[in-house]
Amino acid sequence: MSHARGLNVVVATEQTPWLVSTSQLKEWDKCKKQFYYKSVVKTNWLAGQKNFELGKAVHKLMDYQARNLPLEPILTEVRQDIQETYLALEGNSLAQATVVANEWSFNVPFSLELEGQAPITVWLTGRVDRVVKTLVNTPAKHSFYWVVDWKTGTAVPPDFKQAWQTRLYLYAIWEARHQLGLPETVTIEQLGFVYVEVKPKRKQAVRLYEVLYSQAQHEQTKADLTRVLTGMYLERRFELPATCPDSYCPFGAICGIAPVETEQLNLLALPAKPVRKRKKSKKEANQPEIAPEMVVPKEEASPFDWF
Ligand code: SF4
Repeated sequence: MSHARGLNVVVATEQTPWLVSTSQLKEWDKCKKQFYYKSVVKTNWLAGQKNFELGKAVHKLMDYQARNLPLEPILTEVRQDIQETYLALEGNSLAQATVVANEWSFNVPFSLELEGQAPITVWLTGRVDRVVKTLVNTPAKHSFYWVVDWKTGTAVPPDFKQAWQTRLYLYAIWEARHQLGLPETVTIEQLGFVYVEVKPKRKQAVRLYEVLYSQAQHEQTKADLTRVLTGMYLERRFELPATCPDSYCPFGAICGIAPVETEQLNLLALPAKPVRKRKKSKKEANQPEIAPEMVVPKEEASPFDWF
């Protein structure tokens, strides 16, 4: 069944499958316009690679480590920060646990049912740093499977339990558990996600941020994905937010958001990056200002209250 539509909307056809990754879900939550540029019209832009150098190099070394390749010759050649970060990570018990999958890419089908239409297959995609098997002793000795994400340069999100990466990866890994070769008898309570954050200069070089999984969380993620993907598929306007949520976004020059005028800023509290605000349309500009007390804040239930 084909679902071809215009070019400036999300397209899901047999020839052009709709692939959804953590990045798209994050863009959608952050700014519909950014989602439009990156994921609908797929604008390519140049991003500074420097920040990714450390992360990329350490991920590569961890990949070699999982494959038992001899690393000593490489370690003597790499930059000191890369070496220190790798050595701190390698000493962690999760890096030494039995490897179930390493640098594993997934494509998991998700059936999106829209009223009056045939179901659309959306492919959930991503790449897992590692899946490991550990043994736990409570209540009796049994296996536990961790989906591991090495955090080498970027910070662990403060809401890591609700972050799309955590939720999408757990959802996909549970759905794809047979492809991964997990035993038939494995239960969902034997699965968890862990961010392994490493900062070699810190007193505690490695910190773990763990999330345990359950059937209720799986169902909640399925419901939230259905809601969000339906919104993406039906979206036509991709409107700008009132203020720019991402001062590093490269589309600031073309999206229509305006920098806040300098005289409005308190010079003692200048933000590190310029703040951008949506330009008023002609119609809006002619409207009288609404007094702050007349604005009723909209109560929005978090879709992610599931931990
Ligand atoms: S610059 Fe800001 S408002 Fe414009 S697309 Fe990017 S995130 Fe959205």
